[in-house]
Amino acid sequence: MPTTIFTIANQKGGVGKTTTAVNLAAALAERKIHTLLIDLDPQANATSAVGVEKQAGRSLYGPLNGEGSVFEMITPTEYQHLALIPSEEDLAAAEVELAQSENYLARLSEVLRPLKASNGYRAIIIDCPPSMGMLSMNSLAAADQLLIALQSEYMALEGLGQILRNVDRIRDAGLNNDLNLGGVIMTMYDGRTNLAKQVVDEVRAHLPDKIFNTLIPRSVRLSEAPSFGKPIFAYDNASAGAVAYRELGAEVIKRFGLTPGR
Ligand code: ADP
Ligand code: MG
Repeated sequence: MPTTIFTIANQKGGVGKTTTAVNLAAALAERKIHTLLIDLDPQANATSAVGVEKQAGRSLYGPLNGEGSVFEMITPTEYQHLALIPSEEDLAAAEVELAQSENYLARLSEVLRPLKASNGYRAIIIDCPPSMGMLSMNSLAAADQLLIALQSEYMALEGLGQILRNVDRIRDAGLNNDLNLGGVIMTMYDGRTNLAKQVVDEVRAHLPDKIFNTLIPRSVRLSEAPSFGKPIFAYDNASAGAVAYRELGAEVIKRFGLTPGR
């Protein structure tokens, strides 16, 4: 089985990218799909959210600079079928240094190639920083499927347009003709407000085949789990957030034909 690389992107911060990357990865792992979560954000929120302590020298910074093997950075988690490539502050320097290197948008793609070829994982999920800098653009060039996390609030569509223009830039540059808009995930949905419903309706009207049916609700439990270093399933398995991310996992499995195993 080939490996599908998903990137969870949106140039805005605080829209639920990391929460989605961590809990979607955990939902796939729960279904015995070997999953590798890659933390590409120097803030390392995804790293701590799965209970791994950040550590100097353990991130993609080295491999992106041609130093060290990507395989050496793979770190186990407490969760079955879920591994992590962590992040740490050094990765911030990659934003600057990548810009000066050759093939600067294709570096991540090159780094991940042997990992993909090894068939060790069915799914790789990349958590992006909150900007469309070098790291996020590299993730677009490396991914098979772009999953956009979109907060169910005013101006959501504008953000969507901006991301899609970056996808066009990557395609136009001939960097990743295979990059597909895999789906739009509506996050922090509050069904009690008309605005949230309107935003979802608008996105659905624009991208009827892309928006996932599962709406991730605004839930305090989801915001608490990271400080315990746990995915939502290990923190409060019966919470609305756990139910939603499990449903999203099922939709992703179905949409992309993922099967258990490595
Ligand atoms: P990003 O990675 O896009 O910056 P995060 O996933 O870190 O966004 O989410 C931003 C903040 O909102 C975090 O404090 C997170 O715990 C919280 N959060 C994310 N999703 C939800 C949700 N569905 N309900 C409540 N809080 C959420
Ligand atoms: Mg984040």
